[in-house]
Amino acid sequence: MIRAIHFPNPDAFRASQHPGATHFDLTKGATDEAILWFFCPCGCGGLVRIKVGIDVKPADSPSWNWNGSVADPTLSPSVNRLDCGWHGWLRDGYWEEA
Ligand SMILES: [Zn+2]
Repeated sequence: MIRAIHFPNPDAFRASQHPGATHFDLTKGATDEAILWFFCPCGCGGLVRIKVGIDVKPADSPSWNWNGSVADPTLSPSVNRLDCGWHGWLRDGYWEEA
C-alpha cells in the first residue's frame, strides 16, 4: 500500500512529485465539493485531477464520493487510470492496488 501524503500547499504538492501524494482544493465549487489532485500511486508521474463530493457523489461524471478527511481520505468508487493502467482504491489514507 502507498501512503497518500497530503500537501496543504499546492506548490509544495507539485514540487513533491511523490507517488500517491494528494492535494485537496476546497476553494472551488459548491461547499460540499472539492477537487482532488494526486500523483498516480504507480510512480508513472501522472498528475490527476478529479472531482469529489463530501459524503456524496457529485452529479457530474466522473466524480467520487469522499469521506471529507484530508489526512486519511477514502474515495468511492475505485480509481481506474486509463493512461497507465493502475486501478485501485484510496482507503483511510492509503492507495491499494485492486
Ligand atoms: Zn500510473
